[in-house]
Amino acid sequence: MTSNPCFECGQCCQHFRVSFYHGEIEGNGTGIVPAELTTKITAHLACMKGTEKGGAPCTALRHTKEDGYRCSIYEHRPSPCREFNIINDDGSLNVDCQRLQEVAKQKRLN
Ligand code: SF4
Ligand code: SF4
Repeated sequence: MTSNPCFECGQCCQHFRVSFYHGEIEGNGTGIVPAELTTKITAHLACMKGTEKGGAPCTALRHTKEDGYRCSIYEHRPSPCREFNIINDDGSLNVDCQRLQEVAKQKRLN
């Protein structure tokens, strides 16, 4: 596996409700997120399938022993996925990553 720590983690794709403005869905103006992988929440809001209630994997998340966790629609992922990164804009580590990894570890232990 490569040294990208996200490939060994994948927790942000299994924890949050990944919601975004419906205009990001393909077929809506400049939208690019595959429509069949989304769930309508309100007239203007959608989320990635699987993440409706939080605490469950996004339908676009894949995992293999060889490659670890990967987003199957990486180039077409919605804005919240582009904005949540292991490194903050100022170069510091995103503390939420550590928090999510702790939660996952506790789940495995229970
Ligand atoms: S961004 Fe953080 S929580 Fe998401 S996969 Fe990478 S290390 Fe894990
Ligand atoms: S679209 Fe991709 S990056 Fe976003 S939550 Fe789903 S698997 Fe993760």
